[in-house]
Amino acid sequence: MAPLKITKILCIGAGYVGGPTCAVIALKCPHITVTIVDLNQARIDAWNSPDFNLPIYEPGLEDVVRQCRGRNLFFSTDVDKGIREAELIFVSVNTPTKKSGVGAGFAADLNYVELATRQIAAVATTSKIVVEKSTVPCRTAESMRTILEANSKPNCRFDILSNPEFLAEGTAIADLFQPDRVLIGSLQTREGKDACAALANVYSNWVPENKILTVGLWSSELSKLAANAMLAQRISSVNALSAICEATGANIDEVAHAVGYDSRVGPKFLKASVGFGGSCFQKDILNLVYLSESLHLPEVAAYWRQVVEMNEYQKRRFSKRVVDTLFNTITGKHIAVLGFAFKADTGDTRESASITLIRDFLSERAFVNIYDPKVIESQIWLDLSEACPNMSLESIKKQVKICNSAVEAALNTEAIVIATEWKEFKAVAWTEVYEHMKKPAFVFDGRLLVDADELTKIGFKVYPSFFFFGS
Ligand code: NAD
Repeated sequence: MAPLKITKILCIGAGYVGGPTCAVIALKCPHITVTIVDLNQARIDAWNSPDFNLPIYEPGLEDVVRQCRGRNLFFSTDVDKGIREAELIFVSVNTPTKKSGVGAGFAADLNYVELATRQIAAVATTSKIVVEKSTVPCRTAESMRTILEANSKPNCRFDILSNPEFLAEGTAIADLFQPDRVLIGSLQTREGKDACAALANVYSNWVPENKILTVGLWSSELSKLAANAMLAQRISSVNALSAICEATGANIDEVAHAVGYDSRVGPKFLKASVGFGGSCFQKDILNLVYLSESLHLPEVAAYWRQVVEMNEYQKRRFSKRVVDTLFNTITGKHIAVLGFAFKADTGDTRESASITLIRDFLSERAFVNIYDPKVIESQIWLDLSEACPNMSLESIKKQVKICNSAVEAALNTEAIVIATEWKEFKAVAWTEVYEHMKKPAFVFDGRLLVDADELTKIGFKVYPSFFFFGS
């Protein structure tokens, strides 16, 4: 039987995932009307802004939205209307780590998923395919189904699919255009398989058939957590090795290169750094830890927890290295921090390592100059206020200056910290920067981005390259 042809899609949640994902569906499927809704009026206004001042920065996103907005792509706050009209609904709301209550600090907060699900049940008058796009704990689809079935109207059936998103911020559009795979999980019933075929049919407009994987619901949900946990584990593994390198004289770039040459390991995601950030890695591993504990698997929980602990250790180790190197005190000293986003090519600052470093520097009463090409000023003040609850915003502003260029940030500082791997930091006029810094002038490269030999020739003292033999 030919799969059901979807013509109207709704996405609940116009964030980093819902926005780009559904904009790309609209681009690739001109016959489908795609509406993206959000409760956040400011976010929707930004998606609809006449000058395309979109709420998130992603290379290529503006171009996609320019082609589709008003044609078959719409942004709205009218969630109910969207639900009524759609045949297929993506639930792409936030699932942050719970801040308080049972499982605080580990479990996913599923409040937003539940509220969206209840709203679908309350409003829908026709059958819908409901798709989990959010990253959720294994078996969340079962809870969604129970809520939907208990509240549905007569003749209204809901089929639930899991379709986790694997895009990476900074390369979201490229990842969506050419995904490694699209994963769709469904119940192995006839209805479940039909719903799965309908969604697969949407993706087949641009994704090759062999990259659309169809699996059971629970496998799909767990695969997303597993993928993020294994990616983060690679980073923590290489960071753990970087500590050994610094104490022995081995070079972590050379070690990672040699290890990655093994085809069983592969070269990607083996870059040592100040640690991973972003809204997903830590949250999803903690989620896995919580799941393991709930399933009475303490050894499994301890194993995954260590990945997060290594990441915290790496950030602490980096801050300590800065203080130790600047002659054991940074009080009253000036430090330039290049990069505030959690990674390059995004304006997203969630869980950014930069925030942790700056918090540490401020607590040592250093002055910090910050430059990031994409993060907006109000976001920096918000993040620093949250990170430093013991400081008023006024006192933070006395210690922090937000700058318009790397050169401006470096002026009269003792040290530069590279916290985000923005390409433009490679091309900084380092000789000019050196002349305008206090001496000795230090560069702490938290992303192994710059050419340490070149900077050393200019006169900089560059970390990590000269910290061998436990110095
Ligand atoms: P986000 O916070 O950027 O966006 C979520 C949006 O949902 C918010 O704008 C919020 O206002 C909206 N929302 C919440 N409840 C709503 C409701 N009932 N009705 C309408 N709107 C509602 O989050 P995100 O980064 O897009 O992540 C969404 C999900 O995707 C999360 O589960 C996340 O783990 C997962 N994910 C994120 C990434 C990533 O790189 N950011 C990658 C893969 C998966």
